[in-house]
Amino acid sequence: MKNYIEIQNCRLCNKKKLKKIIDLGSSPIGNDLLKKKDLKSKVTKYPLSVNQCINCGHHQLTVSVNNILLYKSNYTYLTGTSSVFRNYLKNYAQKIVKKIEIKKNDLVIDIGSNDGTLLLYFKKLYNASVLGIDPSLKPSKIARQKKIVTINDFFTNELSEKIKKNYKTPKLITSHNTFAHVKNLDNFFRGIVNLSNEKTLVVIEIGYWLEVVKNNWFDTIYHEHHDFHSLKPLLFFFKKYNFNIIDFKITEPQGGSLMLILKKSNNFKIYKKIQNQINKEKKFGLYKLSFYKKIINNLQKSKDKINLMLSDYSENKKTICAYGSPTKSVTLLSFIKLQKNIIKNIYEDNVLKCNLYNPYMKIPIIHSSNIKKDNPDIILILSWNFAESIIKKVKEEYGKKIIFVVPLPEPYIIE
Ligand SMILES: [Zn+2]
Repeated sequence: MKNYIEIQNCRLCNKKKLKKIIDLGSSPIGNDLLKKKDLKSKVTKYPLSVNQCINCGHHQLTVSVNNILLYKSNYTYLTGTSSVFRNYLKNYAQKIVKKIEIKKNDLVIDIGSNDGTLLLYFKKLYNASVLGIDPSLKPSKIARQKKIVTINDFFTNELSEKIKKNYKTPKLITSHNTFAHVKNLDNFFRGIVNLSNEKTLVVIEIGYWLEVVKNNWFDTIYHEHHDFHSLKPLLFFFKKYNFNIIDFKITEPQGGSLMLILKKSNNFKIYKKIQNQINKEKKFGLYKLSFYKKIINNLQKSKDKINLMLSDYSENKKTICAYGSPTKSVTLLSFIKLQKNIIKNIYEDNVLKCNLYNPYMKIPIIHSSNIKKDNPDIILILSWNFAESIIKKVKEEYGKKIIFVVPLPEPYIIE
């Protein structure tokens, strides 16, 4: 089994015209947190760069790390851990129900259902029948404890055949932040086509490349995300399968994501709202190779600034810790290449990640309830998209004056 392969073809249009636009060096797998017994062994790093397809404009990683290495063992992300995200999913369930009336026993399928947080809302609020599909072990187990029927596997066309035999046609198929993790997009989407009819609403939420580059969120580039999606290339990908993008929304919780509402139809149509957004993407420079030189310059500036801030504190004998251990923190730490041992501990709220080690510098991850005992002077916020609520929480629970460093979108300090 090879650990990774170079991706030779565009994952959307299959053409071989790929051009490297961003090179972040190399990084360990983001969610592969280390156990104490792994500390002596060397951590494998994989190239972390982005290609652009010259044919359709799609952006994707240059390599694909073996799925088994990525997900099967240590996947620790739990949807239900973050209250911001829980509320977001609850609101989403309520809003989508306004678009399509979900009645008792209507089927809702969630692909990448994680710990069942979203499906539980559909079940509790609308008495819907629900089915979750997720390849990671621990979150699926938690979902089943909540009585959410969950198939613990990767969603594929083959799996859709099995589902079709045992379930009715779903009213809603929803998939949040899963699409970019998928190994074979054509096979995955064929599975969705297979399960849907003209009445099924398909909602796919994905990271939006326009928001990534606009806001300098380069840490969302990691090996679990094969793709960085935009509307223009996707419109033609869905066209292959007789699906129209009938609406979209730019959503917040994971940083700017794109929520696409799709429906099966034999008449291909580009809705005005979609065309306008594609024009915005073009105008911003998303499909121009020269545009990315500017992006690389910005990244370098951010990197230098964070290094300078933290090395100043370190020279002044301040204790520096970090907060949050999302997958993207490994990209950030790998890219900024901090001095060794500059960060003492990483605080985390998700108990599944506690008492493990970040793969980049083998930094211990401890529960956030240890902050008082640990007594840091500086906290680098790695879950920077939740910076506001983290700072509020730490300030409330812990009287001492702490300096917070927020690394992105632009490095800044909060005292
Ligand atoms: Zn392409």
